[in-house]
Amino acid sequence: MTAEMVIRAFETRAREIYQRIEETEYKNFSRVLEAFKKHRVASHHFAGSTGYGYNDMGRNTLERLYADVFGGEEALVRSALISGTHAIAQCLMAVLEPGDMMVSAMGRPYDTLNRIIHGDKGLIRKGIKYIEVPLGYDGGMDWQGLQSIMKEKPRMVFIQRSRGYSRQRRALRINDIEKAVQIIRGASNDCIIMVDNCYGEFVEEMEPGHVGVDICAGSLIKNPGGGLAPGGGYVVGRRELIEVVADHLVAPGLGREIGPSLYDLRIIYQGLFIAPHIVAEALKGAVLAAGILEEMGYPVFPRWDESRGDIVQGIGFTSRNELERFVQHVQACSPVESHVCPEFSPLPGYDEEIIMAAGTFVQGSSIELSCDGPLREPLTAYLQGGLCYAHVRHMIGEFRKNAIE
Ligand SMILES: *Cc1c(COP(=O)(O)O)cnc(C)c1O
Repeated sequence: MTAEMVIRAFETRAREIYQRIEETEYKNFSRVLEAFKKHRVASHHFAGSTGYGYNDMGRNTLERLYADVFGGEEALVRSALISGTHAIAQCLMAVLEPGDMMVSAMGRPYDTLNRIIHGDKGLIRKGIKYIEVPLGYDGGMDWQGLQSIMKEKPRMVFIQRSRGYSRQRRALRINDIEKAVQIIRGASNDCIIMVDNCYGEFVEEMEPGHVGVDICAGSLIKNPGGGLAPGGGYVVGRRELIEVVADHLVAPGLGREIGPSLYDLRIIYQGLFIAPHIVAEALKGAVLAAGILEEMGYPVFPRWDESRGDIVQGIGFTSRNELERFVQHVQACSPVESHVCPEFSPLPGYDEEIIMAAGTFVQGSSIELSCDGPLREPLTAYLQGGLCYAHVRHMIGEFRKNAIE
């Protein structure tokens, strides 16, 4: 069978899964469009502001849109938030005070948070207590562990939605997050529930804010930027928390009032508008990659027909060389810098060396087709993104073809 025939056969088998992804896309698309209409988005919102950015209507309206779409009262959507890590760090640093306790409910959080928590200038050094609830037996949340840690009266429970760089961990579904909220609220009314929403946006019909989460944060060069946003991060949540984060990001007392958009906001708006579609394309690509790569003998996380809570596809490899070859293949199938050969190397914020295929229009954008992973056992590459299904399909088709020939 040729690679094309193998892919066609798989697409027939996976038709119902593709349909379910499309149904979610349609619901999310309608929800986003309704928010655009409700806030009467108009071309004057795209202009951007200068200097202090007082009364920046474009920024204010964009933030209201994000608040609505992600189920919060208020939002910060800014290029002054450089990345997902920066947005999450701002929330933690702003909200937690010496003596407070932070609980990570899904074991060890994403790699770049390690230094924010444990580093020289990190939370623990500032007098914040930190505990992790290890993952449950199925790689999800340990409900009993969460319940019993609530006796310690944490100020914040932190929940990572996405898989991150982990084989064992599975991405949380919204109903998992809802269940966690019930457990936490059963023990405390004022414990702050925070979600790292990276890679989870628009994967399901609801967002953490719709099931009672107090604050969540993410990156505009992942799902909600729709592949168009040139950078930035967002924080959405309860009004008083957003104000605390804004004061920390800018300066006490200035908070949300200043912050010029400087450049054209049109692509940030347009990115949010198209994001439900782009996420659906990326999800279909992940399903295809899982199906074909598993058939070729690679272990995949999750499997093609398992439920998904994020756009990340883990792929297991038995040697460094084999992993490098796959990542290099993804790079070679990129529209930008296809002639470049990625290798493992140090990356700011990560403890291990990282290899990264990111032949992307926006540097480091991982809603565009990209593949990366740390140099640690068990060797795993994490594939995600794809602005169109055809791109992932092409990449997988070529990989399958090369393997046979
Ligand atoms: C990508 C990611 C982040 C933040 O990463 P940035 O590269 O700083 O945007 C945080 N948590 C998870 C789970 C992620 O996938």
